[in-house]
Amino acid sequence: MRGLRLLIIGKQGSGKGTLCAKFALRFAIPHISTGEVFRAGVANKTELGLRTKAFMDAGELVPDDLVMEIVNEFFNRDDLRSRGFLFDGFPRTVNQADLLDRLLEPEGVDAVINLDVATEIVIERLSFRRICSDPNCGAIYSLTSPPKVKWVCDRCGSPVVQRDDDREEMILKRLSDYEKMTAPLLSRYDRLGKLITVDASCSPEEVFADALEELAGRALMQAGGAGSR
Ligand code: ADP
Ligand code: ZN
Repeated sequence: MRGLRLLIIGKQGSGKGTLCAKFALRFAIPHISTGEVFRAGVANKTELGLRTKAFMDAGELVPDDLVMEIVNEFFNRDDLRSRGFLFDGFPRTVNQADLLDRLLEPEGVDAVINLDVATEIVIERLSFRRICSDPNCGAIYSLTSPPKVKWVCDRCGSPVVQRDDDREEMILKRLSDYEKMTAPLLSRYDRLGKLITVDASCSPEEVFADALEELAGRALMQAGGAGSR
């Protein structure tokens, strides 16, 4: 049986990374965050990082051809077509969604989880958000749920910092890009009957439980646990 093919879509700060971390702990599906891949490239000054840094620094989307380069590399490196995957932050434009469809012909993805939350809530969450500075760790914290020891990552001991693009001026620009370029994808997946919208204003545990229940309701996963392997 092939693994589940899931996409997570939502505004910046809707909790995509947090939800994916919970899925990845529970299920053996590869979790791919294009944003994390790009941040790691910039931090490690790789060739990809040098090509994406200016876009990231400006809070802009990375051009589709660079995004598809890393996505294609994941498909070449890992047997994602049979193992399944959880994409976080991809696709983010209609063009990226078209290219993903082509990679997955004929079936496409199984489901798209839309993390639905009001803009005022995500603006506050993003200004509170702090992350582990080690891009290989990627742990997520906030002013309201900080690490145990003062601003040192619980998981790896690296300093916990604010993401450069989480400063206020950039937040508004990124949210407006989301509305313009990414939100149109929701109706596309809805028309295909693949869209699962979850209320993302509640706690991460509730969001995770709701998402599992919706997937179970579509016979894509068992609600309580073991599914998907
Ligand atoms: P957020 O969802 O808060 O923007 P991510 O970690 O998903 O955070 O992405 C960080 C940055 O990486 C984005 O602002 C953008 O510059 C780049 N990026 C990530 N995924 C994509 C994508 N699919 N298309 C274009 N740019 C992307
Ligand atoms: Zn860490």
